[in-house]
This record gives sequence, structure tokens and C-alpha cells, in this order.
Amino acid sequence: MLPPAKSDRIITHLPKCFSPKAALQTKEVFHPRVKALCQAHREDAISFNVAKVIVVGDVSVGKTCLVSRFCRGAFDKNYKATIGVDFDMERFQVLGVPFSLQLWDTAGQERFKCIASTYYRGAQAIIVVFDLSRGSSLALARQWLEDAMKENDPSSVLLFLVGTKKDLSSPEQLAQVEQEAVRLSEEIRAEYWAVSAKSGDGVRDFFLRVASLTFEANVLAELEKGTARNDVIKITSGPKDERQLAKRKPDCC
Ligand code: GDP
Ligand code: MG
Repeated sequence: MLPPAKSDRIITHLPKCFSPKAALQTKEVFHPRVKALCQAHREDAISFNVAKVIVVGDVSVGKTCLVSRFCRGAFDKNYKATIGVDFDMERFQVLGVPFSLQLWDTAGQERFKCIASTYYRGAQAIIVVFDLSRGSSLALARQWLEDAMKENDPSSVLLFLVGTKKDLSSPEQLAQVEQEAVRLSEEIRAEYWAVSAKSGDGVRDFFLRVASLTFEANVLAELEKGTARNDVIKITSGPKDERQLAKRKPDCC
């Protein structure tokens, strides 16, 4: 039996987007069908549901610090090297239903522009990261996204474009980069966020939003397929044995 989600991972209302100009949706509440199903069957919704979320972007844009800030509440980029994990599992409770995000951060392979397709495969959300203090990294974000999408179905993946290191940008620089980031978000249909792993600004709000939208999309997809039965909410999970997949020889390099 898994312990319950921490109190700051309990989601009862749909968290707000960062900017209505570049949001996946601007509704303020969960879809009524999702809400109704969760409310009616909260006690029975015992299946442990997982969504795979991958974090991509150029080297040094701040991917590891972003994940680390959320999962460990600290600004630390060395944790992965120390404990050698493939992904972090973050537990939430959304509308009373247990839900987890499997957060995949690269182990530095992006330095060689060589990431195994197993890393990308089966993602339900893709977080494309760029550095707000280095405008050129935004142009590279598109390339990272294209690579990630080769392994995924565009109609069933939620995209997030995240600018990090907000603490390093002056208000003028931020305004200029944000204008371009909003434009790119509209084009690739992503939701834009600006955060700082150093100060923690926006990081928790961002991941609660990712968890909520992924959860909602999963439940709606299951309802559409007719597999959400009356007695149990069954939400799709990513490939079952990710660790095993990850240990296979990479498809490149
Ligand atoms: P990755 O290669 O994309 O995983 O990038 P890292 O997370 O390892 O971060 C690269 C560098 O950027 C490190 O020196 C971090 O200390 C720094 N960094 C990451 N996030 C932030 C941030 O929000 N603010 C500041 N000031 N530095 C950051
Ligand atoms: Mg890293």
C-alpha cells in the first residue's frame, strides 16, 4: 500500500494557467464529466494511475534543476548523478483520486543530441525547456520538440513550453523573450510558463497544472473509449516497465 500524496500535492481545483495568451485551456474548473466521475467513485478509484512526462531541451537550460526543485524542494543539479535514477515518481491526489507523474529527465545524453527513442515513447506530456536568459535556446526548443514528437501521437500529448532562470532575466529581457515564447507556444499548441528553479518561483504551480491537465485528459480519453466503468476509474498508464525499457541499448550513439 502506497502512502498518501503529500498535502501540497492534493489538487481539488483546476490550477490556473500561466498566461491566457498561451494556455492549453483557460477554463477555471475541471471538466464536469471528470468531476462527476471522480466525486461519485472516489472510494472505489483504487487503481494506481501513472502518466509518463518527459523533460527535453538543450544542455544546461535547467531541466534537472527544474525537476529537482519540484521533487526535492531544493535547488540542486547533482542529485541524479548521485543516486542514478531514470525518472522521479511524484504522487498526487486529483479530485480524490491517486495519480502519479513519472518525470523523466535525461542523464546528460542531450549533450550529444542523442536520446534513445524509449525515452520519448509513450509520453502523455512533454515539457520543452529553454533558458529565459539565453534567447537562442528558444529556437532550439522547436528541434527538441520535433524529436520527441517522432515517437508520439500529437493528438494525445500535452505540450508545455517552459522558460527557466527567470531570476536571471531583467524585466525588459523577459518581456521580449516572452513575446517570442508565446508566439511559438501558439504555433506548436503548447502552454507557456516562466519559472525559476533557483527561487522556486512558479515551479510548484507549473507541476500541479501538468498533473491536473494530464489527469483530466486521461480520464476524458477513457470515458470516450468507454473503459471508465461505473465501479472503478481506470486511467491509462504509460508503458508498464519503463526501467527495463530504459536499460536497453539506446537506439542511437
Ligand atoms: P540541464 O543540463 O538542462 O539539466 O541544466 P541544469 O539543471 O543542470 O542547470 C544548468 C545550470 O543552470 C546549472 O549551473 C544551474 O545551477 C543553473 N540553473 C538552473 N536553473 C536555474 C535557475 O532557475 N536560475 C539560475 N540562476 N540558474 C539556474
Ligand atoms: Mg540535466
